[in-house]
Amino acid sequence: DGTIWAIHNSKEKLDKHLAKTGGKVYTRFPPEPNGYLHIGHAKAMFIDFGLAKERNGSCYLRFDDTNPEAEKKEYIDHIQEIVSWMGWEPFKVTYTSDYFQDLYDLALKLIRRGLAYVDHQTPDEIKEYRENKMNSPWRNRSISESLKMFEEMRLGMIDEGKATLRLKQDMQSDNKNMYDLIAYRIKFTSHPHAGDKWCIYPSYDYAHCIVDSLENVSHSLCTLEFEIRRASYYWLLEALDLYHPYVWEYSRLNISNNVLSKRKLNRLATENLVDGWDDPRLLTLAGLRRRGVSSDAINDFIRGIGITRSDNSMIQLNRLEYHIREDLNKAASRTMVVLHPLKIVITNLAGGAILDLDAKMWPDAQNDDTSSFYKIPFTNTVYIENSDFRTKDSKDYYGLAPGKSVLLRYAFPIKCTEVIYGDDGKSIMEIRAEYDPSKTTKPKGVLHWVAQPSPGVDPLKVEVRLFEKLFLSEDPTELDDKWLSDINPHSKEVIKEAYAVPALANAVLGDKFQFERLGYFAVDKDSAPGKLVFNRTVTLRDSYSK
Ligand code: ATP
Ligand code: MG
Ligand code: MG
Repeated sequence: DGTIWAIHNSKEKLDKHLAKTGGKVYTRFPPEPNGYLHIGHAKAMFIDFGLAKERNGSCYLRFDDTNPEAEKKEYIDHIQEIVSWMGWEPFKVTYTSDYFQDLYDLALKLIRRGLAYVDHQTPDEIKEYRENKMNSPWRNRSISESLKMFEEMRLGMIDEGKATLRLKQDMQSDNKNMYDLIAYRIKFTSHPHAGDKWCIYPSYDYAHCIVDSLENVSHSLCTLEFEIRRASYYWLLEALDLYHPYVWEYSRLNISNNVLSKRKLNRLATENLVDGWDDPRLLTLAGLRRRGVSSDAINDFIRGIGITRSDNSMIQLNRLEYHIREDLNKAASRTMVVLHPLKIVITNLAGGAILDLDAKMWPDAQNDDTSSFYKIPFTNTVYIENSDFRTKDSKDYYGLAPGKSVLLRYAFPIKCTEVIYGDDGKSIMEIRAEYDPSKTTKPKGVLHWVAQPSPGVDPLKVEVRLFEKLFLSEDPTELDDKWLSDINPHSKEVIKEAYAVPALANAVLGDKFQFERLGYFAVDKDSAPGKLVFNRTVTLRDSYSK
């Protein structure tokens, strides 16, 4: 990229940069701390931290904190934590607000050079004038007057909205991002990082390029919507004789049936439409983590879609799920849970008998490797899924039915001998069955199951939460302000009392399992001693392959 730098930089400026960096690659990941990071940010991090890593360079984590109303310490802390969870190590953590003094000094320099002016147009006037390529009436005021007014802005002597500092760019340009962008505005708001020191705050357009340059960023990478701001980025650095980083844009990640904008995520989280920023249905990184997705699976997914410059790509959710399954297939040990238990009494096993059986934690477990097995009791009262029983058998049906046999996985074949109905004559109270201790029957159907650990004692009860897509439409943002009415009313199902094998009682936060035949599940943070809660991360069915 020596050539690209040479296009935009004088030899002198580039040499100055190289003297400081030795030609080393510097990038930055610049989130605004106005919310939790989402999977789109995983792509940005993959590019920013990834490029630096690949080139033996360094990547800053820079909080782009120029809008104090929207920003919070909670977000700053969370972002630092989740960046590290994603596996990235910032070279330094910096804040745009750490440069407020430099940015202010440079603003004075611009005014003195006749390249910025204090303006008093309202937002509507600015819009109208820009549409008509007309100069603000304040554009040609004297330098000394602008200096004086800017000082009054800084001292809090001018009301919010009554003055801005504008760059004197090119009102005749074909690029509307050259129409005298706003550099500073007045906000009587204290700042989550800079405190109460300032009542004028720089804009993104003003601050971003300058801080990139002050931090000697070599490659400033951002999403495509910033492409039209590139001209202004270079204009401003040129106006201040500052070194130009190389700017390159990539496409924003979008995923079907969900939203990825902090503004929208904020509404979902704060209006209690979901259970907070880390709701497992959200594609925030915290939500994905809570759901049971690892950072490896997220990074594999990002690597898989590639770094493109094609227009805003809508990626199907099942593509992400593919990578989650690949990862969990290796990481999640097998266990058994019955979501909707149906009681089966085994009539040819004595009431007090407890057979201690071995169940596989891993499909390829070797018999001599005891650490790959867990113990399950088999007694005369076992539970299978309600949905695994039918009163009418059919040819393509492999579950349990009157007269039919199924294999209870890791245990014995059982044959249904009787159905006990409740008083209404319809609802099934229990099934009676006989087991085949010699295992000579070879039924086609294999079921997961859970037994009473001892006579009259219920199996371990756990709460299980199942999730579906959060939005009904593939792209809810197309509905504009009606996007909230597109929320899937069935996106979350809570099963308060599922039955689990006794070994699951030892599960702790962070543990991941495959519940046989049901999917992959992770322990949720709502778990309490004696009351485990599991989130289904993803089902077992795989509808996407590379
Ligand atoms: P949001 O609308 O979610 O707030 P943003 O662009 O304002 O998005 P920032 O926190 O300012 O979010 O972004 C930090 C970095 O992450 C920027 O470089 C931005 O371009 C990038 N980024 C944000 N969203 C996405 C996305 N969906 N796909 C790829 N990169 C993204
Ligand atoms: Mg931003
Ligand atoms: Mg934003």
